[in-house]
This record gives sequence, C-alpha cells and structure tokens, in this order.
Amino acid sequence: MGKRFSRRDFLKTSGAIAAAACVGGQRLSAAANAAAEPKKHWFKCNLHMHNQWSDGEPLPEWAIDWYKSHGYHFICPSDHNIFQSDRLRFDGFGFDNTPSDVAAFKGETSLWKVISPTRGWPKLTQAHVDETIEKFGKDSIRTITVGTQTYVRMTPFAELEKRFAEPGKFLLIPGYEQTGGCPNGQQVHVNFINVREVFPYLAAETPREILQRTYAKGQEAYAGQNYLFTANHPLWRYYDYSPADLIALPQIRVFELNNNAIASGLDGHPEGWKPEKFWDVVNAYRAAHDQPLLLGLGTDDRHSYVAPAKAWSVVRAAKLGTEDVLAAISAGDFYASNGLDFADIHFDGKTLSVKIDVREEGPYRIQFLGTKKDYDPSSRTIDVAKGPRRPARKIDLYSDSIGVVLDTVEGVEASYTLKADDLYVRAKAVKVAEGLKPDWESQPAAWTQPYN
Ligand SMILES: [Zn+2]
Ligand SMILES: [Zn+2]
Repeated sequence: MGKRFSRRDFLKTSGAIAAAACVGGQRLSAAANAAAEPKKHWFKCNLHMHNQWSDGEPLPEWAIDWYKSHGYHFICPSDHNIFQSDRLRFDGFGFDNTPSDVAAFKGETSLWKVISPTRGWPKLTQAHVDETIEKFGKDSIRTITVGTQTYVRMTPFAELEKRFAEPGKFLLIPGYEQTGGCPNGQQVHVNFINVREVFPYLAAETPREILQRTYAKGQEAYAGQNYLFTANHPLWRYYDYSPADLIALPQIRVFELNNNAIASGLDGHPEGWKPEKFWDVVNAYRAAHDQPLLLGLGTDDRHSYVAPAKAWSVVRAAKLGTEDVLAAISAGDFYASNGLDFADIHFDGKTLSVKIDVREEGPYRIQFLGTKKDYDPSSRTIDVAKGPRRPARKIDLYSDSIGVVLDTVEGVEASYTLKADDLYVRAKAVKVAEGLKPDWESQPAAWTQPYN
C-alpha cells in the first residue's frame, strides 16, 4: 500500500467516534460532526481478473463489459506481469507470437495476438473475436494479417478507460498481477493496484523471500504513488505461502481471503488450513503484538468467464474515485462476499454492529469470530507428500484456540462488544439453508474485516 491509514486514523475520519471528535481543539457534537461527514455508499468491486492481455479467455472489452453490466462499480484488469500500455509488442505471459514480418506493424501500437486455429487455454480463438464483434461491432476490433496469420490488437488501458469508465457509475483502476516462483514450484502472486508499469519477475528460494522482495521492489518502483499491494491466493495451488510468512511480514496488510472460492479444495491436505484459519492465525499474532490487522479481500481472479463469479468485495466510500476507494480499502472499510451483503458495519472502538442487507428470504445467521488473549500460539509441522501437480511441502498446523466462535445470533442484525480477553473480533454473515455443503462456494456468506 502507498498511503497507510491506521485503524485509529480511519475511525477519526469516518466519524465512527463522532461524539469524541475534535476539530481545532473544539469538541463537536455528534450531530454537527455527522452533518460534516459526506454520506458514504457501498461500491461492489473486483480487483483481480484476466483477459487476453495475458491468459484470460475473452478480449478485454468483453471482460470489462461483463463486470459493468453485472452490477460492479469498479474493477482492476490485473493481467499477469503486463500492463495494458500502448507499447508495440507480440509477447506476454505464456505466449510469443512475433510475426515473420514486423514491418506490417509499422506505426502501430499495443500488443498484437495471433488468432489460434486450435482451442485451448489461453489461446485467442476466433470465437473470442466473434463474441466481441457481436457485442461491440466490427470496428471494435483491429486486425492485421501477415501470411496465414491474423493478428488482433489488444486495446490498451487508456482506450478501455475512455470507452467504459463513467463518472459515478463505473471506474477502471490500472494495475497488474506480479508473479514470482521458487525452484520447488511454489508460486507467489501479488497484485499492484493503481500502477501503470511492471517490474521483472522475481524468483527466490522461498515464498517469504519473494513476498518480501516484491513488496520492497514495489515501494521503490512506485515511490510517491498511491497504490495497493495485495498478497494473492495463498491456497493456489497448494499452500504456496503460509500464515508464518505474513506473520513475518507485517507490512503486508491485504490478502485474498476468498479467491474465486479456493478453499484448499484443489490439492488440500485434510489437516491443512482453510483461508479463514489462515487469516485468524495471522491476526491473532498481529493483535497480540499490537500490529495492524490483516485485511481480507474477495476477488474472482477470472480467466474463463463461463462459470459465475464466486467472490467479490464491497467498499464503502464517499464517492466512486480511485483515491476514495483505495483509502477505504487501506482503512478496512470493506467486506468480502460470495453472495450476501451488509447494509451496515459499524465499529465504535469496542462494539462491532452489523446488519445484513436482506435481498432474498432467509433465514440468516451472524457469527462473531476472534481469538482470545490466552490462545495457544504454538504450531506443529507436518510433511505433505509430493503429488501429481505439486512438490512436497511442509506446512504448519495451529491450535483450535485460534479463530473461535465468540457469539452466534440467528437473525439479520447483531452486535458484539469486545471483552477484556478478546484480541479482535470479525463478523461473518451466512444464509442458513438445508442441504448446503459447509464450503464457501455453496454457502452464501459475507465477511467483515477484523476489529480491535
Ligand atoms: Zn495468481
Ligand atoms: Zn490472477
């Protein structure tokens, strides 16, 4: 993250402790302070997605239009190790289709990708070109044929922004997904949001080293810029980085709690952690050591757009602007969702109150989760065997005293007041229904951030 907001700064600016707010030494009444506070709104977003600029299936226009027409207010098209600039090129993440005669592209700009005669991820096929033409017309696509190969121009960010952004309605934030890898096959991906330049892939011996070096490199490369750093999908594909890594790196403030519903189902070990446990392990430690808590994002990280979006985030801000929404995320004023919405989340420094925005018949349940001060911080290490698509790993397992249910309320509105022995509290809203599997792909839920 660029600009940092502490929880305390946020409470000051949000008016959540309005009664105690002071301006110029004058104590304001709650009413006067509330009147000075602009009304805030919830904005639905997805900060992690792919299109043909790297390895997503649709062309960028088609992908962006999907979000715009499905109720999202802002997105970041975050392709792998590439920014959608207008520099002429023919290669990117996982492809190199330099033409035999580059002269045909004299004076051209942007990335050109060849239409593949065969299907298969992540190739650009005629079907993807056709679906875009069908939606936006023939002029939306530019092609150049060299010999037997037809190239399609990928539309750069600035042109996409011009075409799709609408003040107050839909916002595009520039950014990309940075990839790093270890010799044993572990992968670390992070997003840099609100930047327009990439830096080279960083390889290192361990995921922790990649995270640490990538974070530091971002600070150097984007010095003075207001950007957001997110640590992506710790469970893709297989325990890539661990709670211990984010405990060792308190500068990392945002991670993907729910990445398109990956909950270790892919290659998970029966004893291994799930994302919520990961989150609580890090936050128990951070809270116990007076560090800022780790915030959890929901993103869909879509490549194929056939299956529905399985996770997103909703951010509360005074207006739909990049500065506003990034400040709100940094301050933790957002929730992650895979189906439910909060009408309100309020923390006054002691009590967390939440209200579900009921859009369909319930019943609903609100759980308050957290960790007590006398929790057992110890862990034990287990070996996880090599599998068909994964190297052997060691993972740490943590005690059941981390991430416990503090209270459960059947209903759509509830509050929880921190007790002297609580380290932090977070709320989770779920829809209660018969026959739903306990995984979060099938159970509609929403997660507030942790508070203390
Ligand atoms: Zn990734
Ligand atoms: Zn991704």
